[in-house]
Amino acid sequence: MTIRYVIFLFLSLAIFSCQEDKPKRPESVVKTKKPQVKIPTFSGDKAFANIEKQLDFGTRVPGTPTHKACKNWLVDEFKNYGAEVIEQDFKASFLSVKDAESTNIIAQFNPENKERVLLCAHWDSRLIAEKDPEESMRDKPIMGADDGGSGVGVLLEIARLIHENPIDLGIDIVLFDAEDNGLDRQNWCLGSKHWGKNLHKKNYTAEFGILLDMVGAKDAKFPMEEISMRYAQGYLKRVWKLAEKMKADDLFIKKKIPAIEDDHLHVNQLANIPTIDIINAAHEDGTFGAHHHTHDDNIDIISKTTLRKVGQVVTAVIYNHSCGRF
Ligand SMILES: [Zn+2]
Repeated sequence: MTIRYVIFLFLSLAIFSCQEDKPKRPESVVKTKKPQVKIPTFSGDKAFANIEKQLDFGTRVPGTPTHKACKNWLVDEFKNYGAEVIEQDFKASFLSVKDAESTNIIAQFNPENKERVLLCAHWDSRLIAEKDPEESMRDKPIMGADDGGSGVGVLLEIARLIHENPIDLGIDIVLFDAEDNGLDRQNWCLGSKHWGKNLHKKNYTAEFGILLDMVGAKDAKFPMEEISMRYAQGYLKRVWKLAEKMKADDLFIKKKIPAIEDDHLHVNQLANIPTIDIINAAHEDGTFGAHHHTHDDNIDIISKTTLRKVGQVVTAVIYNHSCGRF
């Protein structure tokens, strides 16, 4: 993930032309209220351990052996939690790398249920650390504890909760590959672009989607991002309102920020699923946290409290939605 405010105007034009062609989806499907279900308790400790485990493999740059080893572990974890898993392979070219073996991991819970919600994150880590203060370290791959590891850590914990607390809702957890290895305007979000053009099931759709990107840092702040507002404003406002009710409004702040090209752009435009981005991007100096694309993006900047708060909000969204209360 990188700052791409410079392409805001370009994106806006692309979005407007896209909207002219496509019928607007209803912002919410009226659902019958069912009895309130118990919302399971999200564990910040377990989400943290999920990040440590990913880092134990090493960096997760597409095409490398450590990337492949981590993929196999992720697939096994989802299967252990009862998901039907699809590995969607594709080739990615980025920076100095050509045709790297890459895989979107799609974990389906209750695949027969027609009411579905999409939860997603990217699972790759970055080949370079172009923002590192140490010049000699800038060509080395980063650990990506926050940028990559945190979203995956939270979603794996949600998979565990779904396994232990059955939910009357279809949930698809999609881990996009090759999100974070672009440069300037090119080659970002390769996994979500591939998935959007080659959906894992014919006519696949979901009522709405939530993308988690950099959701684990101690000082995280999640602002209201432009693309999320443009495509899925109703959902964003309901998530932020729920976060306020759950006393997580120190993270989910009401500051509006310009467009960021992240995987949700392609889910919105290619799959036509209204999708918001929960992303740590509200810092004064260049919007992302100081650890972004540096070697400080390691386990030391991760907070179990941040993970617990964001994870508990997303868990509440899906369990409330399953009984018509979101
Ligand atoms: Zn990034």
